[in-house]
Formats: sequence, structure tokens, C-alpha cells
Amino acid sequence: MNAITIDKDALKAKYAEERDKRLRGDGSAQYVRLESEFSDLATDPYTPRKERDPVTDHVTFAFIGGGFAGLVVGGRLKEAGIEDVRIIEKGGDFGGTWYWNRYPGAQCDTASMIYMPLLEETGHVPTEKYAHAPEIRDHCSRIGNHFGLYEKALFHTEVNDLEWDEAQKVWIIRTSRGDAFTAKYIGMGTGPLHVAKLPGLPGIENFKGKSFHTSRWDYAYTGGNPEGAPQDKLADKRVAIIGTGATAVQCIPHLAKSAKELLVFQRTPSSVDRRDNAPIEEDWFSDVAEEGWQRKWQENFAANLGVGFPAEDLVNDGWTDLAKRVRANLKEVPPSEWTPERMLESFEDSDFQKMEEIRQRAAELVDDPDTGENLKAWYRQLCKRPCFHDEYLQAFNEPATRLIDTDGKGVERITENGVYAGGQEYEVDCIIYASGFEVSLDSVSRAGFDVTGKGGLKLSRHWEEGMRTRHGLHMAGFPNAFMVQPTQAANFIANVPHNIVDHADTIATIVSHAERQGHQTVEVTAEAEQAWLDFLDTGLGVNIGNTECTPGYYNNEGVGWGDNTRFMQGHPHGAMAFFNYMDGWRKSGEFEGLEFR
Ligand code: NDP
Repeated sequence: MNAITIDKDALKAKYAEERDKRLRGDGSAQYVRLESEFSDLATDPYTPRKERDPVTDHVTFAFIGGGFAGLVVGGRLKEAGIEDVRIIEKGGDFGGTWYWNRYPGAQCDTASMIYMPLLEETGHVPTEKYAHAPEIRDHCSRIGNHFGLYEKALFHTEVNDLEWDEAQKVWIIRTSRGDAFTAKYIGMGTGPLHVAKLPGLPGIENFKGKSFHTSRWDYAYTGGNPEGAPQDKLADKRVAIIGTGATAVQCIPHLAKSAKELLVFQRTPSSVDRRDNAPIEEDWFSDVAEEGWQRKWQENFAANLGVGFPAEDLVNDGWTDLAKRVRANLKEVPPSEWTPERMLESFEDSDFQKMEEIRQRAAELVDDPDTGENLKAWYRQLCKRPCFHDEYLQAFNEPATRLIDTDGKGVERITENGVYAGGQEYEVDCIIYASGFEVSLDSVSRAGFDVTGKGGLKLSRHWEEGMRTRHGLHMAGFPNAFMVQPTQAANFIANVPHNIVDHADTIATIVSHAERQGHQTVEVTAEAEQAWLDFLDTGLGVNIGNTECTPGYYNNEGVGWGDNTRFMQGHPHGAMAFFNYMDGWRKSGEFEGLEFR
């Protein structure tokens, strides 16, 4: 690691200046929902909707959401002998985010060996260190087929209402397709990023050309396909892309090669470090793949991103690099001086170094010095989703590509003929919105349904003053119900599927126990829920989502989470501490905090 001399005060001032430039009064309200506002843009372009009769039967377990969460929980329940598992999914097949996001270049950002769940169980060997979307989507189907989850699944179906029937001790599930069936248990894994959003720009509905959101890519218009065939129909098109987040970083290199002209409208640059993707040879894989290897690799990755000093780094990538720097930095400090403040300072120093290298990379790889300068990210690495790509910055050297940097202001409006930014109209044939997904505190509105528990208690009411769970899984007053998501649990954003696999193991353990013992219900006690929330409060606090960061969805567009920081909380001692704790909890067989009846 070559040391770069850094003027910390100057850098902090620059970060603050760039943040202030982007602060705006309307926060998350600057966006509008793709679904509600532009329903014609939100239809499923990938699978025709099949007519079917409403379902009115009973299943043991119903899971809302057919992404990784539903698939992994379904798989684990099947392994535990629960045969009638029904997944309800709004898309036309399994996959969740990987069903919708078929834009060119879509790829996982975390190494496939740890990101793609249930590799050992399904016998799949990923083809690349960072698999592309078609392979991940195929893997979702593989899991569905392997565990027989297609049999009872309901696709193109949205849950409207979930209600606990105390007399019958079952959940009643009502859907957009007229279904009204019951389930003994429910799981909810609707994902944090499934409601696509558009910037609420004036004139957006008046544009006469073609427009779509990246999660509804229109290959009929662009030519090509998700597997990477050239988008030949763009050869005579002027294309604008709005947004430069993780999605845009992946699709811009493909657009740059196909479009006659590509205008990239940037409000805030992403930090784009090297990717170093490489094929995975079966030989190499058989060397590492002893039984239990995936769990070992996932835990090693989590441990490398934590506070300990793991002996080896199996995944060895951009995510673990920052953590390694922090540790190297800390090693210089005598253990007697390891205070929380000193650790945070060490983190900050490593971050400054890392970001300086990422900025230098932009300057080195982009031919035009002004463009290279405008692609530099001025914030700490975890202020926004870190990106890794080996062709993004170089895409700005393609003759067709032009960066329209808006100096933090963003596109101002859409006209009939194109995009208006920086006092100028840019005429285009097509506008692609790489504007992301809704991240709001209102999980009920995001999920599209409320949950009615015991005594008519609504989940929206239970969470009125912030999210309340034990282990991120259970809610008091909602028997036989499980959430599957990272918050108030490991909160491990660098590898979300790891959180899911862990929750699935816990759910399968609890449900197997309840079924074996003939219990009707299992529910967390109010005291156990509160005790867990109190425990979460004993940490240093969240290090992502703070308001010193430039605005983005991590920090609620600069507004911060206020009293709702619980929405961003995880185990106070880090992800591995949570996974180890849950392992002990499951193995103890005591089911501490839960009541079975
Ligand atoms: P993001 O929310 O990250 O990005 C939205 C982009 O739109 C930002 O660059 C934002 O700018 C920009 N924007 C919004 N309004 C305007 C405007 N008026 N003018 C110009 N630009 C505007 O969405 P993404 O779809 O890129 O990513 C969403 C998340 O999906 C990621 O953070 C990541 O978690 C996940 N993802 C994961 C991948 C993986 O491999 N695992 C790959 C891709 C995405 P600003 O930054 O200023 O707000």
C-alpha cells in the first residue's frame, strides 16, 4: 500500500462542501414511485401474465417474496420436512431483484462463492468470481426446482392483506388475484429495494421519445439481450441516462458501445474501485469445496469485515481491502490506546487513503482531464454504495459518451424532446432512468400491505415509533410470523444473502421444533423484544447513514434517520457476533425469548 499524503482538514472541508451543495429540502420526497405514478412503465416486460382461478386452500408455510429470502427459507423448510410451502411473488418467476434487473452488464457486487446461496445444496459452481445476472437468475430457478418450490408458488401475485385469525390460529392471506387462503406460519422477505423510483422531475410525462427504468429494460427497443448481445437498435439513437449509482456503473459501459450518442447525467459521482473479475475454474473450485465450505467462506468474509484479526482472507476483494487497511493502521497503535475514538480515527484515516486512491484511479483511467476530475467522489467510501468496475471509467473514453456533470444539482426537468440540466436542453431519443429504488421508513407502504396481528394490532402501529423486532425476525403480537431481512440482526450489507441464510436456519429450527412438539403457536414475548432493542442500543451506533455524508438513500437523502436509527441498526459487536450468537441460540435448544403454545 503506497502511502498518500493527505491534508485531513482540507479533505474534510471539501467533503462538507460537496455534501452541502447536494442538501435539499425535499429529501426522499424528491422521488416518485414508478408503480403508482407511471404504471405503464412498471408492467412486467419479461413474462406474460397467466390467468388462473383464485386460491382458497391451506398451507403450512406461506412466504411473501420470491427472491433469495423466500427461496432460501423455502429450501430450508423443505429440508426440515415441511412439504407445503407456498411462495407469493409479484414477478413472473423467482429471483426478486434478479428477476427485475436485467439491464446489460448486471452483475453481483459481492463474490459469487459467498453471494449465491445454497451452492453446496444445489451443486452449482459459479462461472465467475462476480457472476452476471442471467447466471444468478438461473440459480434462483435452480433452487426453486431443487426444492420443489414451483409447485405451490403464486407468481404475478401481490399480497394485499395479512391477518391473524386468533380463533383458528392461522394467517389469512389475501392477494391481488382474489386469493384468500390460510397458512399456519408466514414469512416476509419483500426486500429493501424492490419499489423502483423515478426522480420527480417536472415534465417527465411529456417526453415524446422512449423512456424506461433500468429495472424494466426494454430490449425490444434497444436490441441485444441480458446475456450481453450488442444493443444494435441503439446505433442511430441519442440516449440519456439519469443517475450514476451502482446500476448505472454496470450498464453505462454497454450503452457506450452501442449508442450513437450517450449522455450521462451525473448529480453525484460513485466511488468506483477495481473489480478484478475472473473465471472460476472447476479444478480450483474442487480444491476449496470440502463439506461446509460455503459457510466457512461466508463467515471468513464477515470476519474480515469485522473488528477482529482473521488469519486469512479467502475472498480477498475490494470489500475486505478497506477492513484490512483499518487493521493494518490499528496494528501501529499500542493495544492500551485502543479506545472507540481511536478506532474510529483509524477507520477514517484508512478511508481517506482508500478514497484518495479511488479518485486517482478516475484521473488515470479517463483521457479527458475535466471528465476525470468530475468523476471523482468526495465522500467517505461507505457514505454511498461502493462500486467496483473495470470498464466504467474507461467508458468515458468512448467517442459516443459524454459526461454531463450537474455539479450536485441534478437534472432539472424533462422536456418533450429531452433533458434539461445546467441551463441547457439536451435533445435525445431515449431516456433511461437509473434512479434506484425506494428506501423509506414506511415498510408497510413499501411492502404494499399491512399485517394485522393479535387483537387487531397493525404492524404499522407496532412500528409507529421505529422498527421493533427480536433478532430482526420476530415481532411481539404477531405469532407464527417471521421477517427475513438484515436490520436489527447482522445488518451485513456487504453480503445480504448471508443474513438470509442465517435467518432461514433459525426459522427452520423453530418451525421444526414447533411441529415436532405439536405446538400451535410460537411468539416472541414483549419483554424479549424490548431487551433485544436495549441491547442494540449499547453499540457505538451506526457508521453508515450519518448526516455528515453526502445525501443518498443510506442517510435518508441527507436528512438522517432521527429517532428511527433503529431502521439502520445491527448487532452492536458486528455481523459475525450476531451469526455466532444465533448459532449458539439455535444449538442450545432453549429458544430463549420465544413462547410456544
Ligand atoms: P441509486 O439509488 O444508488 O442511484 C440513483 C442515482 O440517480 C444516483 O446516482 C442519484 O444521484 C441519481 N439521481 C437521482 N435524481 C437525479 C437527478 N434529478 N438528476 C441526476 N441524477 C439523479 O440506484 P441504483 O439503481 O444505482 O442502485 C440501487 C441499489 O441497488 C444499490 O445501491 C445497490 O445496493 C443495489 N445494486 C446492487 C448491485 C449488485 O451488484 N449487488 C448492482 C446494482 C445495484 P445522487 O447520488 O446524487 O442521489
